[in-house]
Amino acid sequence: MEKRDYYEVLEVAKNATPEEIKKAYRKKAIQYHPDKNPGDKEAEEKFKEAAEAYEVLSNPDKRARYDQFGHAGMGGASGFGGAGGFSMEDIFTRFGDVFEGAFGGGFSSFFGGGGSRGGGRRVVNRGTNLRVTVKLTLEEIANGTTKKIKVKKYVPCSACHGTGEKDGNSSTTCPTCNGRGVQTRVMHTMLGQMQTSSTCSTCGGSGKVIKDKCTSCYGEGIVSGEETIELKIPAGVYEGMQLTMEGKGNAARHGGINGDLLIAIQEIEHPDLKRDGIDLVYNLYIGIPDAILGCSAEIPTIGGKVKIKVEPGTQSGKVLRLKGKGLPDISSYGHGDLLVRINVFIPNDVTKEDKKLLEQMRESESFNPQSKRNESFFSKLKNAFRNMM
Ligand SMILES: [Zn+2]
Ligand SMILES: [Zn+2]
Repeated sequence: MEKRDYYEVLEVAKNATPEEIKKAYRKKAIQYHPDKNPGDKEAEEKFKEAAEAYEVLSNPDKRARYDQFGHAGMGGASGFGGAGGFSMEDIFTRFGDVFEGAFGGGFSSFFGGGGSRGGGRRVVNRGTNLRVTVKLTLEEIANGTTKKIKVKKYVPCSACHGTGEKDGNSSTTCPTCNGRGVQTRVMHTMLGQMQTSSTCSTCGGSGKVIKDKCTSCYGEGIVSGEETIELKIPAGVYEGMQLTMEGKGNAARHGGINGDLLIAIQEIEHPDLKRDGIDLVYNLYIGIPDAILGCSAEIPTIGGKVKIKVEPGTQSGKVLRLKGKGLPDISSYGHGDLLVRINVFIPNDVTKEDKKLLEQMRESESFNPQSKRNESFFSKLKNAFRNMM
């Protein structure tokens, strides 16, 4: 099925505020909620579609990427930032807070109580995000690269398979919340009675209490460990950009949902080439005779050195553009250029013999800007300048 535009799905404007997006999502989620549409497959699809749209638009990073690249920017081969494919359980886990306070009461009270869904609204733990910084050379940025990094993180306890229970079956239903994971309280306010729900303080929202704790992880279900992770860095990333690998962060207590791995990109400065967006800039210095007579010069590029020709009579400050020798554009198939800025080198330390030569040049008509010989050059220059105004 063709994916619909996320803004269209939530019926919000492209410049909607986070608050407007949240509100719009809540409206859709309540409209298509499975409790209100039992057995309605289409409503379920709409419910999931809205969750997917909200997942992207509520995250500033993902939203920016979506605005720039559309659906194509959301995951795919690189494994970053994939949206969609949510199960219903995921949606309640990740976005349950959106429903809090709907209609002045808790989500569960509005939809007839969480207990009626077999405790389906229990809070599932979520692992914390991990942050790493990756330093890349211009060559790696130009071509894309794969980096293997070792990350210290929480991993599921192997002794209890992340349950935190000693013998696999030693947990009982939490007596405080009866397994619902939430505590409901009735508050008396100016507007009358209001029901609020909050995470159960006894079981932390899991709905279970462990009687006999695993001795390896003290009942947490996670232990300190490490993982070697392969980072696939797409070509064209830039300094300060952040990539997300979902589910590669810390493991969660008691078999919950893993956190994400956030990858900050840092550029290692290139000795010769400076970056300007997707273009690269190289400063070429040539001698005065070469500028006058023309010459060839070797230019460093990402793919190795290339030879260029400098035409006779090249002025200092002229920029030559080597098409496609810049960096790939991460948002399209385009490529930047390599700009060669030509600087005519003026020495400040010359020998006696050179001084004599220069004195001769000073007398020559060719080197005198006021001479008749050079009139046509300056009239052209004036014309060009007039056209610019
Ligand atoms: Zn354990
Ligand atoms: Zn509880």
